[in-house]
Amino acid sequence: MKCGFEIHIQLKTKSKLFCSCPTNYQDADPNTNVCPVCLNQPGAKPSAPNEKAIESALKIALMLGCKINKGTIYFMRKHYDYPDLPSGYQRTSTPIGYDGELNGIRIREVHLEEDPGQYKPDLGVVDFNRSGIPLIEVVTEPDINSPEEAREFLKELMRVLEYSEDARGEGTMRADVNVSLEGGRRVEIKNINSIKGAYKALKFEIMRQKNLLERGMEVARETRAFLESQMITVPMRMKEEAEDYRYIPDPDLPPMKFDEKYIEKIKQSLPETPSMKVKRFVEQYKISKEDAHVLTSELALANAFEEVAKEINPKFAAQWMREELKRVLSYNNITFAESGITPKQLIELLKMIQNKEITVKAGKKIIEHLPFNKKSPKEIAKELGLLGVIEDEEKILKAVEKAIKDNPKAVNDYHNGKKAALNFLLGQVMKLTKGKVDPQRTMQILKSKVEESK
Ligand SMILES: [Zn+2]
Repeated sequence: MKCGFEIHIQLKTKSKLFCSCPTNYQDADPNTNVCPVCLNQPGAKPSAPNEKAIESALKIALMLGCKINKGTIYFMRKHYDYPDLPSGYQRTSTPIGYDGELNGIRIREVHLEEDPGQYKPDLGVVDFNRSGIPLIEVVTEPDINSPEEAREFLKELMRVLEYSEDARGEGTMRADVNVSLEGGRRVEIKNINSIKGAYKALKFEIMRQKNLLERGMEVARETRAFLESQMITVPMRMKEEAEDYRYIPDPDLPPMKFDEKYIEKIKQSLPETPSMKVKRFVEQYKISKEDAHVLTSELALANAFEEVAKEINPKFAAQWMREELKRVLSYNNITFAESGITPKQLIELLKMIQNKEITVKAGKKIIEHLPFNKKSPKEIAKELGLLGVIEDEEKILKAVEKAIKDNPKAVNDYHNGKKAALNFLLGQVMKLTKGKVDPQRTMQILKSKVEESK
């Protein structure tokens, strides 16, 4: 399999690309963030392109390792007929950057273009709030060889875009993919709106094309649409050739040229890319590459780790954030940023564990209560009765003896060779002590007591 992507993501600007309408289209009533320009009314003249959008596009192109086009850049009119675009054309720039690379996949080009409106065929209505929002378009070479590789690439691309802090997330993604199998023709799939969708569409398409080829049938060169709800692709129309779009430079927009100084200034202010951050974390904090990968999977998480590592041993912090914090985030299906957890809360929690104010087990319980919780870990510990570690040998022994006495079956099982019964008994001791005992030390005591009981 060979495939290449065209990925569109919205840029984070306050106003649209060719007018001053705001871009917060999700919060606004339909067709309220509009003007004659972004409604594409005949004769409405676009303003000069949004400078912030141009700067963001350059920044992202550079972060993707692209060379910057030093020649003249035009906004082209790309013609097509669809209700989301009353003018009949979408404005898209000639390449701003080219010849980049990410995850071993070559980036052919990066463009800047305008988003069309949102057409809802089932209702027959169009909302133009989205029309004119700047998009970054990233075009790859057909270097991707499996759905898994595609998924990895898209994840890494989203990470770079997040790190740029200039692009919106996967929620605004729209991608087209060109896919072909050896001996078959190239098929374009449109309407891919998520990384998972891309993976499923490719899986389906490979199977469909393979079946045709195996039966000696031809794979038609066509454009297909991905129906996310059914996880299948269906024919859309015969593939357009570039000439069908009748590209012409938009006479209402001035050509652009970037001067050397301007590019240099952007280069100087580029943020770290995710791969740069992984490398630095390994060197600076002496943590493993795997830990660094997990911690840099989200910019907010990476930033929080650096805050925490100022006060807590970085290896200890990395271990807790990678294992326990990530466990809690994925259980709740939220990102770190969404969780509202602060570095301050994490520092306090880890300090409590280090100072033996709570057990490790209690720490694991408390961290589960941190998402969407403004309370400090100490307050949470108090509420849950988890404060304190039982050091008193007598008390531990008492709990152990009670657990043995109350669970003769488990003790018997152990004597009959079922070693796992000991873990059950440890669990009972934990319950009796509200998890305030050190598990390793308690296990030693428990084991010797159970063996004595034979
Ligand atoms: Zn407008």
